[in-house]
Amino acid sequence: MSDRPILVLFYRDLRIGDHPALTAAVKANRPVVPLYVFDARSPGNWAPGGASRWWLHHALQQLDTELKDLGNRLVIRDGNIVETALTVADEVAADSIYFTRGYEPWWRTVETSLDQRGQDMGLAVKRFGGRLLLEPEEVTTKTGDPYKVYTPFWRSVSGRRLRQPVGPITSLKRPGRFKIKSLKVADLDLRPTAPNWARGFEPIWQPGRVGARAALESFVAERIAGYHEARDRPDISGTSRLSPHLHFGEISPAECWAAASAASAGLPNVGVETFLKEVVWREFSYHLLFHWPDLPEAPFRDQFAAFPWRDDDAALRAWQRGATGYPIVDAGMRELWETGWMHNRVRMIVASFLTKNLLLPWQAGEAWFWDCLVDADLASNAASWQWVAGSGADAAPYFRIFNPVKQGQTYDPDGSYVRRWVPELAKLASRHIHAPWEAPEAALQSADVRLGETYPKPIVDHKHTRDRALSAYATIKSQG
Ligand code: FAD
Repeated sequence: MSDRPILVLFYRDLRIGDHPALTAAVKANRPVVPLYVFDARSPGNWAPGGASRWWLHHALQQLDTELKDLGNRLVIRDGNIVETALTVADEVAADSIYFTRGYEPWWRTVETSLDQRGQDMGLAVKRFGGRLLLEPEEVTTKTGDPYKVYTPFWRSVSGRRLRQPVGPITSLKRPGRFKIKSLKVADLDLRPTAPNWARGFEPIWQPGRVGARAALESFVAERIAGYHEARDRPDISGTSRLSPHLHFGEISPAECWAAASAASAGLPNVGVETFLKEVVWREFSYHLLFHWPDLPEAPFRDQFAAFPWRDDDAALRAWQRGATGYPIVDAGMRELWETGWMHNRVRMIVASFLTKNLLLPWQAGEAWFWDCLVDADLASNAASWQWVAGSGADAAPYFRIFNPVKQGQTYDPDGSYVRRWVPELAKLASRHIHAPWEAPEAALQSADVRLGETYPKPIVDHKHTRDRALSAYATIKSQG
C-alpha cells in the first residue's frame, strides 16, 4: 500500500466535520497535506469582496488551528490554483489530490484543468460532494431538465432520503519527510486597508467552525420553533445567521438539515419546515447557477435584456450610503455597511427600491452586495437579485413593487430597527418613523430632525417611481 501523501485542496469547505474528501483521506490511512490557495485572479469580477476577505482571513486562521489540534496544519499559498496545487503535490510527492466540488463557473474550469493536468502527471484526482444536499445532476424534472420553479424543486429535495452528515475527524497524519513552505494567513493581505470599516464586524461574528456550530446550536435550541413568524422581523433576532458559515463551508447544509430535523423530533413543526425551505432556496440558487452559468451577469428571462434601466450615479451613491430618505432602506444599507450582513426582508426591500423605484440595474446592487456582505455568494446573490428584479427564475411578479413605508410599518412596527441604524431619527415617534416627511413640523422639531439637514428628504416619490417602473416593464412585456 502506498504511503505517499494525499493533498486535500480546500476552497469553500473550510471545516473538519462532514467533509467527505477529508474523511476519505483519513480512511486511506496515509499522510495528508491540507492546502489552501488564494487566487485573486481566476474568479475575475467575482474574486472575494472586502467583507468576504475579512471573513476568509479569520476562517483560515481557525481552520489552521483546528488542523494543528489534529496534529497537522494548513499549507497556505497564493497564485493560480491548478499550478500551485500541482507544484505542492510535486514538492511533497503526493500521489492523489482530493477536493470538494464547487459550482462557480471559474471553479468548474479549475476542476477540469486539475483533473486533466493531474492525470497527465500520474496523480489520482478525486472530487467529492458536501457543499450541497444533492448534486445538480441528481435533481431534475421527469423529462430530465433542470427545475426552473422552486416549489417542485423543494418537493423533489425534501421527499428524498438525504445523506447523513459524518462527524469531525479526530486525527490527521502529516507527512514526516517534507518541509513544506507555507505563507501565514496575514501574508494574504485579506484584511481591509481602511481599518475602521470592519470594526463593527468583530463583536458580531465568529468566523470558523466553532462559531458555525454555536450559531446552529443556539438557533435550533432557542429560535427555530418561532422562526416562521420571527424570520420576517428585522427588529428581532429571529433567523439563524448561518449564511456566511454556509458560504465558506464551515458547516455543511447536511449538518443544518440534520440538526433542524432532529429538533422537530418527528412532530410537525412549521418553524423547522420553514427553515428547511430556506436552506433549499440556497440549494435552488446553486442549481440555477450550475445550469445557467451566466446567471450573475445576464437576466435569466431574456426579455429583460432590453429593459430600459437608468444610469444615475448620484442615486446609486445615495442608496449605497443609506441616504435615500426612506428610513427602512437606509437602515438596511447602514446595517450592511457596519456589520457585513442585512436581514433578508430588508434585502428584499432595498433591492426592490434600487431596481424599481430608482430603476437602476440589479447588477449594480449585486456588485455592491458582493463587496459588502460577509455571506456574499455567487449563486444566492445572483438568484436573489434577479428574483427581486423580476428577471429571475420563478421571480416575484414584476408588479409586486414594495412600498418601503408600508414594509417598514409592517415588519418594524415600533421602528426599533430604524432607530438602531439611523440614530438621527431615534427620537421620532413610532407613528412617524417610517415616513418622517409626513410628520408634523412640531413632531420633527421635538425629535431634533431637520429634513434635508440632519436626515435626507426622500430622493424619489414612491408613487411616481412605481408608475415609471410599471411603464418600463410594459415596454418589454410584449416581447416576452
Ligand atoms: P436564515 O433565515 O436563517 O436561513 C437559513 C439559510 O438558508 C441561510 O443561512 C441561507 O444559506 C439560506 N437562505 C435563506 N434565504 C435564502 C434565499 N432567499 N436564497 C438563498 N438562500 C437562502 N444569501 C446568501 O447567503 N448570500 C448572498 O449573497 C445573498 N444575497 C442576497 C441578495 C438579495 C437581494 C436577497 C433578497 C437575498 C440574498 N440572500 C443571500 C438570501 C438571504 O437574504 C440570506 O441567505 C439570509 O438573509 C441569511 O441570513 P440567515 O443565515 O439568518 O438566514
